[in-house]
Amino acid sequence: MVGDSHKHQGMRKKLVDQLRRKGIQDERVLAAVASVPRHLFLDPAFLEHAYEDKAFRIGAGQTISQPYTVAYQSSLLELKPGMKVLEIGTGSGYQASILAAMGAKVFSIERHKSLFEEAKERLRMLGYSKVKTFFGDGFLGQPSFAPYDRILITAAAPEIPRLLLEQLAVGGFLVLPLDSENGTMMIRITKAPSGEFVREDFENFRFVPMLKGKVF
Ligand code: SAH
Repeated sequence: MVGDSHKHQGMRKKLVDQLRRKGIQDERVLAAVASVPRHLFLDPAFLEHAYEDKAFRIGAGQTISQPYTVAYQSSLLELKPGMKVLEIGTGSGYQASILAAMGAKVFSIERHKSLFEEAKERLRMLGYSKVKTFFGDGFLGQPSFAPYDRILITAAAPEIPRLLLEQLAVGGFLVLPLDSENGTMMIRITKAPSGEFVREDFENFRFVPMLKGKVF
């Protein structure tokens, strides 16, 4: 891959070891982290830090999530190759690339026009051209390609977006960081065959907020 090197591959191996130590066990998630060149998703000014387990600024006041967070959310999805996944919050496109590397059909929405355009071009350059990107408000989802086997929100949601539950396939999962009195909690919601929703609560995380509307 253009712009990738043995040195970067070595750094990714170390990152994978760190994630393993922090409790990430899904081998397919770890393989994806080992394969996606995270340094090409960051501002070149942060090149040296690309494989630290930290979040970084990416412009428009947003961040590329910490690798641990990306790996944690990706593990909760329990993805199988070929599944349709809707991501809310394309940001840099890193999380979308991880999902694509795991064999998912990825649809991703970003509300900032500038980030959307940069991510779209980056995904094309890096060969993740099957990821479909959209400029829009993730609260509305992307009904034209629904239902989705999995929906992943990568910004802290003030509430569970009703329209996203509607766009979820039966048996599907919605994974989201949800604001609560106890901070932002990782939540997984399953759409049961009966049509009921089952909620599981996981750990606390920090995310930029999920906001309504588009930014031109
Ligand atoms: N998944 C990204 C992380 C980005 S941070 C990555 O891997 O780099 C969260 C992103 O969600 C930001 O880019 C922010 O602009 C976007 N966002 C926030 N609210 C949104 C909404 N309602 N619809 C779409 N994107 C949203």
